[in-house]
Amino acid sequence: MVVLRTVVVRSVAKEFLWQLSEVGVCRMPSQAKPRFVILYGSQKGQAESLAEGVAEAAEEQGLVAELSCLNQNEKYNLEKEHAPVIFIVSTTGDGEPPDNALQFVKRIKNKALSADHYKHLCYALLALGDTNYANFCNCGKTIERRLQELGAKQFYPTGYADDGVGLDVVVDPWIEGLWKAIKEALSKMASDRTGCFKGEAGDSPKKTPDSSIPDVQLNLLSITDHQNCESTRASVETVSKSPTAASSSASATQTAVSDLSPAFPAGSPGLASQSHDTASVSTSAQETQNGDTGVPHVALAASLMRSLPPLSESSLNVPALPPPYLDVCLQEADAVEQVVGPLIKETLHEVPVSKAVQLARGDSVKTALLLELDISAHQMTYQPGDSFDVFCPNQAAEVEDLLHRLGLHDQRNHQVHISLHKDTKKKGAMVPPYISPNISLLSLLTWCVEIRSVPKKAFLRALVEHTGDSVQRRRLQELCSKQGAADYNLYVRDPSLSVLELLAAFPSCSPPLSLLIEHLPKLQPRPYSAASSCLRYPGKVHFVFNVVEFPACPGRPAGRRGLCTGWLFDLINPVLVFPEKAESSGCPAVPKIHVSLRPNCFFRPPSDLSAPFIMVGPGTGVAPFVGFLQQREEERKENPEATFGETWLFFGCRHRDRDYLFREELEGFVSSGTLSQLKVCFSRDDQEDEAATSAVARPRYVQHNLLLNSQHITDILLKQNGYIYVCGDAKNMAKDVNDTLMEMIKTELQVDQLEAMKRLAGLREEKRYLQDIWG
Ligand code: FAD
Repeated sequence: MVVLRTVVVRSVAKEFLWQLSEVGVCRMPSQAKPRFVILYGSQKGQAESLAEGVAEAAEEQGLVAELSCLNQNEKYNLEKEHAPVIFIVSTTGDGEPPDNALQFVKRIKNKALSADHYKHLCYALLALGDTNYANFCNCGKTIERRLQELGAKQFYPTGYADDGVGLDVVVDPWIEGLWKAIKEALSKMASDRTGCFKGEAGDSPKKTPDSSIPDVQLNLLSITDHQNCESTRASVETVSKSPTAASSSASATQTAVSDLSPAFPAGSPGLASQSHDTASVSTSAQETQNGDTGVPHVALAASLMRSLPPLSESSLNVPALPPPYLDVCLQEADAVEQVVGPLIKETLHEVPVSKAVQLARGDSVKTALLLELDISAHQMTYQPGDSFDVFCPNQAAEVEDLLHRLGLHDQRNHQVHISLHKDTKKKGAMVPPYISPNISLLSLLTWCVEIRSVPKKAFLRALVEHTGDSVQRRRLQELCSKQGAADYNLYVRDPSLSVLELLAAFPSCSPPLSLLIEHLPKLQPRPYSAASSCLRYPGKVHFVFNVVEFPACPGRPAGRRGLCTGWLFDLINPVLVFPEKAESSGCPAVPKIHVSLRPNCFFRPPSDLSAPFIMVGPGTGVAPFVGFLQQREEERKENPEATFGETWLFFGCRHRDRDYLFREELEGFVSSGTLSQLKVCFSRDDQEDEAATSAVARPRYVQHNLLLNSQHITDILLKQNGYIYVCGDAKNMAKDVNDTLMEMIKTELQVDQLEAMKRLAGLREEKRYLQDIWG
């Protein structure tokens, strides 16, 4: 989101163009706009859509953006590029570059490149990541490090945006400050070329060109709250004073929206005097709901559909209206392709589920299931540590609801024709390649787009244009505005609200199908770690998962299951075997699912059989380690003379009797000598009783058990060249384990925090500290 007034933007741009033509920067006619380059690397489309947003906003700034994906190297040439280059890159998996940035990263890592290879290059970088995962923003950091090693000059501080708390916190101010920085960079480049500042370029690459540019902190994750509040107030104040700007049309790049139709009248008791920062908006919403505000009770509470002052009375800065770019028409056809499975065919295998077992007892909090797939008829050789992508459809009932909601139910078997909108202003616009040309509407909504995805702010902004009721329009504007960021997080992002749930809450909103196709991302397969070894189970693969549950929330009257886990649960329910029953009843209709192999080159047991290794996998995180240990057991049988390194497994769950997954098998590995140490803890068993009777509390979580074995573990890792693997929940466990490892290194080696961090980073670099985490 770019907080700049249109009027000011235009005048700055004009003045800037004049300056450039004065110094002859572009050696173009004075009307020509200066150009810059945007390169993105994106796995799930976030970085791509941000890059597109920047490219679109550039025009209003009097600039021309050349947008390319990093893998489109025929479209850009960094070796000869003299215009500013903006990189917007995300990180995937265990700190890996997105698939479409892999080749670029490999190219720039080439050690043969000289230290002045990119001396001419002037860049800024926005890195996207998630602090729930290790190696936060690793791809961005890697690119940045290499650019600097190769002599490139940074003209604007790098933004490190954290999806764990909301990318906007960093992205919005980063883009806000970008324009001024680009213009200064262009100006400086022009001056350098005309000789005014010859030799000065890049003297201070990390210096922010202007102190008024927001402080996007290097290596820190946030913009200071104070600055956020100040900039919000400043823009709101300016807009409020200008009625023309306040009521400006939706077509403005940055529309400043006045108080069109507040859900609550100004001056609601006791609330109007609150400050205008977003934090207080969130607090007021929550407090009112809790009925604990310390102010007279307000009968009406904030909700998805309703705001309270100050937000309801505030002028708003909303994102630019994304330009429409698709024309969609529906055509009755005799033979429409009725797709009954996912569209990507090359690497896909349709395989039968040969067994489905409920692992945890019926009264455990989570439903953990094991599926066995029969892959014997397919060319799929996997290693322990690899995963399988499972391709699932959207839920049939939700697709039906969406068809009804769009008023297209009668046309669900029509053929969908999608073409590029003539004269679209969208940069890099293309017909989504994952939608096949002759597909029916029903198949498209079932297999191609993620109808459960959380609507992004740009989508909300676009929905405003198709909403009749003014109160609802205003609320959608609030939810996508800078001022409504806290409400967006509270009511949309955190509860993972889907577009269908949103449309149910805003009945006067009737978007065209084209808008949904433009904004809904591709339906992604879900990966699951192999929980078996094909040495033990030739022609079979096992995987284990918990059925994800989303609770009811404002906007979602009833809870729902995760898309893939819910679908799998329903699919295999008729053939499900419970632990107490020995074998499947042999249901005649064996369900089949589509999968493809997703190899993981690093998360594998050490190739040196004598190397010791430690596995940390609570809950379903134990899955790959069952595969590791099955493999090791078979290898031990095949090579009785060989020396095998020590193996440790740290497992944890809530209750010994309810959700201790693979208990018999794990204890069997210990008996056979395959597993040297099995350390198990139970977070909810008899804690109170124990605390009363025992002076030392028993370990509750895997990290507590790690601490208890600190000396052994640090020995294995730091003296015996051993390995540690962590698998499972990314949100809490992986972080806690990481922090604990750091503490252990500090204590055992008697070093400070920085040195411990370096040691741990060294282990990662050497691929001896590996993670496979999700959530
Ligand atoms: P969706 O409808 O996609 O909803 C997912 C949302 O649910 C997430 O955004 C998150 O907010 C929330 N959520 C709550 N709990 C979880 C959870 N446990 N996992 C993911 N999201 C959660 N899962 C397994 O259960 N077993 C595995 O062996 C496994 N291996 C994986 C390996 C890799 C390399 C990766 C990237 C993920 C793995 N996952 C595994 C996660 C799995 O791919 C799915 O994300 C998960 O099953 C949820 O899918 P869903 O479609 O049911 O949920």
